[in-house]
Amino acid sequence: MSTDRLVVIGGDAAGLSAAAQARRLRPAGDLEIVVLEQGPEVSYSACGIPYWIGGQVTDRDALLARTVAQFEADGIVIRTHARAEEIDLAAGEVSASDGRRYGYDHLVVATGGRPTRPPVPGLDADGVHGVHRLADGADIRAAIAAGAKRAVVLGGGYIGLEMAEVLLGRGLSVTVVLADPLPMGQLDDDMGERICKAMGDMGIDVQPNQPVREIEVDADGAIRAVRTDAGSYDADLVVLGLGMGPEATLAEEAGLQIGTTGGIDVAHTQRSRSHPEVFAAGDCAQTFHRITGEAAHVALGTHANKQGRVAGSIIGGRPARFAGVLGTAATKVGDLEIARTGLCTTEAEKAGYDHRSEVIEATTRAGYYPGAEPIAVKVITEGGGPGCCSAPRSWAGPAAASGSTSSPPPSGRGSPPRNWPPPTSPTPRRSHRPTTRWRWRPAWSAGSRPADSGLATRPDSPGGAPGGILIIRYSAVHVLPRSAEHAHRDP
Ligand SMILES: Cc1cc2nc3c(=O)[nH]c(=O)nc-3n(C[C@H](O)[C@H](O)[C@H](O)COP(=O)(O)OP(=O)(O)OC[C@H]3O[C@@H](n4cnc5c(N)ncnc54)[C@H](O)[C@@H]3O)c2cc1C
Repeated sequence: MSTDRLVVIGGDAAGLSAAAQARRLRPAGDLEIVVLEQGPEVSYSACGIPYWIGGQVTDRDALLARTVAQFEADGIVIRTHARAEEIDLAAGEVSASDGRRYGYDHLVVATGGRPTRPPVPGLDADGVHGVHRLADGADIRAAIAAGAKRAVVLGGGYIGLEMAEVLLGRGLSVTVVLADPLPMGQLDDDMGERICKAMGDMGIDVQPNQPVREIEVDADGAIRAVRTDAGSYDADLVVLGLGMGPEATLAEEAGLQIGTTGGIDVAHTQRSRSHPEVFAAGDCAQTFHRITGEAAHVALGTHANKQGRVAGSIIGGRPARFAGVLGTAATKVGDLEIARTGLCTTEAEKAGYDHRSEVIEATTRAGYYPGAEPIAVKVITEGGGPGCCSAPRSWAGPAAASGSTSSPPPSGRGSPPRNWPPPTSPTPRRSHRPTTRWRWRPAWSAGSRPADSGLATRPDSPGGAPGGILIIRYSAVHVLPRSAEHAHRDP
């Protein structure tokens, strides 16, 4: 029996999910698996980097899910410090920086994402840090240990907010500079305002509507301040939280088709649409929005793992497909918990839906019951008459709904880099019919991360199309101690 070879480029969530799943389905005698990783380690959790910086995670190695030795024990060969430099699609070979050429029968490209870096002077200075690899976390920890006192975070997506919070916790003064009017750019304004207020209440200085113009640097190369049109903010440390784009250069140079979002254009099977013999998965790949059906790019580990598993399943001989994303995410700022799924009103508007929304101000459990905390839920649906957005009774109670609005939604946002929900097509689509059934799943709890399958929907929506749901939960009196809360994170 001849042995096939699978080469995987990228040794983190997507690449190693693909490798592990292929190995589960095909033994070493049938499939040789080689993973090329340009960095020093594999299978690390970028999600945990802010909490390692913040000190909630004290052991760096706790961020390593599996070691090279563990993979090799499963017959998966890992080559670290081996950067794939060229893919020769015609020859079926990958050239790597270790001087070798790796022939393949199956190829998975899982090169991940790269932090968005606007082209402003000074951005390459030493004190400017992305938050992407473990080395970035080490650099930021070292800067704090060396005495950094003033941090400026550029961008207000979830990584920017997580970083602002942990830097504040480490005793730095923190300014968050936003190009947008509000943090978390693709939440609706009314929800973004609550987040902005929570940040201010914590002591984070939020500076909205200010695209960064320059990182001011001393003659000796040390950063001094971040300059915008409105002012200059002193900084010893600058952190990039401007979003994550796909790292698809290698694939593009090889001739793989790139999609409208900049990610590798793949089908639901994770096969390249231009070269179906090649798979791509994770942050480097484009995907689909499950409501609009449009192309989307959402850089989250939860998708990377699933997409990698789909590729690995197919290579292992088992049919599989990735259904797409809903833009589901959950995070927190201080004690304010934030979650969303589906389309917010600006996205629904862009996609051409006739939509309406309601905000329900209620409590997380019956108001008289110990532990009841305020919660605001925004529900967005397509079309529908009065009551189409009514809340489930277990959340809101009979008299809890307020703040009903109908389209058009709040607008006025610009279009700088976003790093959270997916971009949606500006093309009006008015005849969309969904395949998803609606059902309520009010099981949102502290620290939990709802799965994309948890879209709250209803079966009798007049327009038939699913809307979105945004949930903001206040936890002024938090029921979980901090340590327990972090233990419940599922990055
Ligand atoms: C601060 C932070 C917090 C996050 N929090 C969450 C969260 O709470 N929940 C969540 O779901 N997601 C979260 N994410 C996102 C999540 O980490 C990513 O979506 C996920 O890691 C993507 O996995 P990936 O395998 O596609 O890419 P990556 O993790 O980026 O891995 C790609 C790998 O490929 C390697 N590589 C690239 N090019 C080459 C090459 N030419 N040759 C060899 N190797 C190469 C890279 O070195 C890298 O190791 C967070 C990300 C960050 C940065």
